[in-house]
Amino acid sequence: MKITFLGTGTSQGVPVIACICEVCRSTDKRDNRLRTSILIETEDKTIVVDSGPDFRYQLLREKVNDLDAVLFTHEHKDHIAGLDDIRPFNYLLHKVIDVYATERVQTALKREFYYIFAEKKYHGLPQINLHTVENGKEFKIGVNTITPIEVMHHLLPITGYRIGDFTYITDAKTISEDSFNLIKGTKILVINALQNESHISHFTLNEAIAFAQKVGAEMTYLTHISHNLGLHNSVEEKLPANIRLAFDGLKLNVY
Ligand SMILES: [Zn+2]
Ligand SMILES: [Zn+2]
Ligand SMILES: [Zn+2]
Repeated sequence: MKITFLGTGTSQGVPVIACICEVCRSTDKRDNRLRTSILIETEDKTIVVDSGPDFRYQLLREKVNDLDAVLFTHEHKDHIAGLDDIRPFNYLLHKVIDVYATERVQTALKREFYYIFAEKKYHGLPQINLHTVENGKEFKIGVNTITPIEVMHHLLPITGYRIGDFTYITDAKTISEDSFNLIKGTKILVINALQNESHISHFTLNEAIAFAQKVGAEMTYLTHISHNLGLHNSVEEKLPANIRLAFDGLKLNVY
């Protein structure tokens, strides 16, 4: 299974428009972060987790020529805004894209993308099949077994996903023991780390490190990063060897 980080930035991305901080002015490419999303290529399926505002550019950059499914974590705009750009797969590959989301996220998709679900459909609409995910209830995409894992984004439940020994969680602030038990034993963990200062709905760097150490994965990669976290290079120097900052375009092989 191959993982590609399509984006690793928080909702505004990095650089932030009009910001002149050292991170936003950095010439290190790893300090340029599009909105958070990953691509998962398994032996039989191509899956993305979230389709944010940068989705089109991310798929072009990584030359993604196929897509089977989109897994949504939650309905915030930085995670769903790019859904229309699945249309080339509808047109060119004649595929209807399978979309996996909780009931609540489906309600939001029906509100934000009302035209996809309209009774009278006009030509050229995105074509999707909705599938309902529930916390802890495994489902299959092709040969792949996927476990949805609920974590809390302040008061909003978010869905993380585990496939085999790989677990991907973004936008978490608190994680219950029940959810921890679903994550336990994972070898590669992706978890969000926004900044150093406390935040109501996101893990800080220290909170993410503490959670990573509790899970004890072989490798942990941090994502959904704000310009406030600091320069990629200087932040990473201070991290334990098995906890790294993800960056856009980073690829992992997971077995
Ligand atoms: Zn987010
Ligand atoms: Zn900045
Ligand atoms: Zn969010």
